[in-house]
Amino acid sequence: MRSLTYDGYADAHPEGAALVKAIVDISAIEIEYKCFQVIKKAMSKIFILNSLLLLSQIPNPEAKFLDLKNKLEKKGFQVIIALPPKRGAYGLLREADKKIWINPVVFELHIGTQTLIHETVHAAQVCAGKGKIKTLGLDIQPSNYARPFFRHYTDVKRQDLEKEAYAVQTQPNSFELGTSKE
Ligand SMILES: [Zn+2]
Repeated sequence: MRSLTYDGYADAHPEGAALVKAIVDISAIEIEYKCFQVIKKAMSKIFILNSLLLLSQIPNPEAKFLDLKNKLEKKGFQVIIALPPKRGAYGLLREADKKIWINPVVFELHIGTQTLIHETVHAAQVCAGKGKIKTLGLDIQPSNYARPFFRHYTDVKRQDLEKEAYAVQTQPNSFELGTSKE
């Protein structure tokens, strides 16, 4: 079977990607990767933190990145800081072997944590589909300015997967927790 890949920011212009920077604090998020519950829990914490924090007040984003990376690795995902096999991608998840690439350039662009959050959503999607990626069915919408990042995917399923990832990533301050989908 062909191994599908889901990139974080493939084809995204760096300046545009900078626009979708969300104010997030990962350190308090307990990612347990129980699919739906996990992301909802994470989002509720991001929501609370976003209400309280300004970007300039968030200390040590590297620690948050590493914290999330550790949690992903505990769940069997391998996080590699290296150029993804797909050219132009900022992040990439290969579901076949649960490998996540994070392009080193994202740290220069100060979107490292955000890129990892995006890939974390895909990781949860893999978890939700029990190895076969599927949407979580989250009841949230991405910000309008994030639309160009997923609208260009012509494959409908792929577009839905990306839409969900961008929704979590870019709109932590306006979502409501969806009703339970389990
Ligand atoms: Zn993606």
